Amino acid sequence: MKSKTAEAMKCNTCRDNQYVLFNKKGKIHVKACKCYCCDKCQGTGKIFGEDADGISRIRECQCAGFFKKLKLFNHAGIPGKFVHEDLDNYEIGRHRSLKDAVTRSRTFIKEFVRMKGQYSQGLIFMGEPGLGKTHLSVSIIKELILQHGVECKFVDFFELLRDIRHGYGEDISEGEFINPYVGVKVLVIDELAKGRNTDWELTVLDHFISARYNDDDKVTLVTTNFKDKLDGGIRQEEKGNPKSGFSNASARYTLEEKIGPRIFSRLMEMCKKVHLQGKDFRQEQC
Ligand SMILES: [Zn+2]
Ligand SMILES: [Zn+2]
Repeated sequence: MKSKTAEAMKCNTCRDNQYVLFNKKGKIHVKACKCYCCDKCQGTGKIFGEDADGISRIRECQCAGFFKKLKLFNHAGIPGKFVHEDLDNYEIGRHRSLKDAVTRSRTFIKEFVRMKGQYSQGLIFMGEPGLGKTHLSVSIIKELILQHGVECKFVDFFELLRDIRHGYGEDISEGEFINPYVGVKVLVIDELAKGRNTDWELTVLDHFISARYNDDDKVTLVTTNFKDKLDGGIRQEEKGNPKSGFSNASARYTLEEKIGPRIFSRLMEMCKKVHLQGKDFRQEQC
């Protein structure tokens, strides 16, 4: 994803990345660019040859890693609208916290790669809607997959609950529908605590977060409109049911109130907090 100068660039289609991203049915997909060429395997990823005993064998070409990255990417479920987004084009505006958020995202990637993903803490991006929290989390996993071949998955909180609810409704084992989310190395949970969360949903979330919490090997990135403290410590409206999903709920409830102290404290151990402040980019553009 490094940008290169026009003079040095050989392929305008992929900007010499050798892959092209595109939007397909609302998710970002990737394919090898037409400029991609491996003269060892002609782009098949496999080399046919004979071993010392004259037996023919198929072995992986050195470029097989490239195709593995593309395959991982196509399973990550990243929303299509982020096809062009990366850390370089995140708009930091004038607010220091946003500049800091990009720096923290870059540091996270660097540390993750240095530690080979072991014992890494994730990040939880907290702040008002429209500050690019999803942009940052998506940019991180795009880079982890395409540059470093890390298995990552993106899921919207609603989508996660829907899949789990659907799974319980069908006659399939819990493992089958929960494992793709519990088992993935790096998981993004977008818009955590959005909407009205029933007790059943919170129980499922607890179970799910606990499973990732108990596994040292898993890293979770979270975005949420809810904060750990209310602005100025005052509730902007009178407190009603903490689980209600009215707009402006993030001004009235803390994340801990929305998801309960147990899930909250686990998340705080699993992720470093990144607070975002500033004006909503989407509103500014209107
Ligand atoms: Zn190309
Ligand atoms: Zn090859």
